[in-house]
Amino acid sequence: MTHINHTTHQTICATCGTQYPVGKPLPELCPICDDERQYIGDNGQTWTSLATLAKDRAIRFSQIRDGLYDLRITPAFAIGQRAFLILSESGNVLWDCLPFLDEPTIAFIRSVGGLNAIVISHPHYYSLMAEWAKVFDCPVYIHQNDAVWVQNPTPAVTFWTGERNELWDGMAIINTGGHFPGSCVLIQPDASGKTNLLTGDTIYVARSRRLVTFMYSYPNLIPLPKKAIEQIRDRLDGVSFDCIYGAFEGMVIPANGRAVFDASIQRYLSIFE
Ligand SMILES: [Zn+2]
Ligand SMILES: [Zn+2]
Repeated sequence: MTHINHTTHQTICATCGTQYPVGKPLPELCPICDDERQYIGDNGQTWTSLATLAKDRAIRFSQIRDGLYDLRITPAFAIGQRAFLILSESGNVLWDCLPFLDEPTIAFIRSVGGLNAIVISHPHYYSLMAEWAKVFDCPVYIHQNDAVWVQNPTPAVTFWTGERNELWDGMAIINTGGHFPGSCVLIQPDASGKTNLLTGDTIYVARSRRLVTFMYSYPNLIPLPKKAIEQIRDRLDGVSFDCIYGAFEGMVIPANGRAVFDASIQRYLSIFE
């Protein structure tokens, strides 16, 4: 069985959590952070290692509904997103990824059947995907449109093309674009008969939880043009969903997600009228 190697190599960007290959020179600035959608940390570009993180970090997992867990690094590190573990009859899925992994998390995920695939919404959450894929011996699904953003290539990465990728047990990845050209969401029918929409920050749950929004950059507050909002609308045309789960703790539209999404699209498009 593959275990995690908490290496002392400083290969993880401390601001966004992206891991770079061991044994290759690091870029002067992390391209993910140097992009308009992110930022370089206040102290300039800094790097850290898995060994350093392992000193005081752990992953907390909590069950949020039957067959769905959220996983968070505690104390928070880098962007601070959560990942979701979906338990499914024909194979479990990790939606998005975290820039850390430890033995208790590996043991827990193995105890519930391991992972069949890792599916990532967009480049801000590529994080430690190569290590996770190695440990769980599974592919990582990334949309081809974002291939240029992969910093730590691994044979596990499976680029997919098109607008929709059917997985199994009714799960499907939908490429909406917007935040990134390859930005995706995942639809997931659950045991209660409801359909969950997992969105990363492709669709961002607003603080009021009465709206969702769509941005080119969240930290730098750069909106998207009209045609991007129309594309997101069109890619989800005819797709039903109830509950929307965003990338951060507390980001949930617990019911009527489809109506909230429709109203939010309308609200956004009204700005351009
Ligand atoms: Zn970075
Ligand atoms: Zn993002």
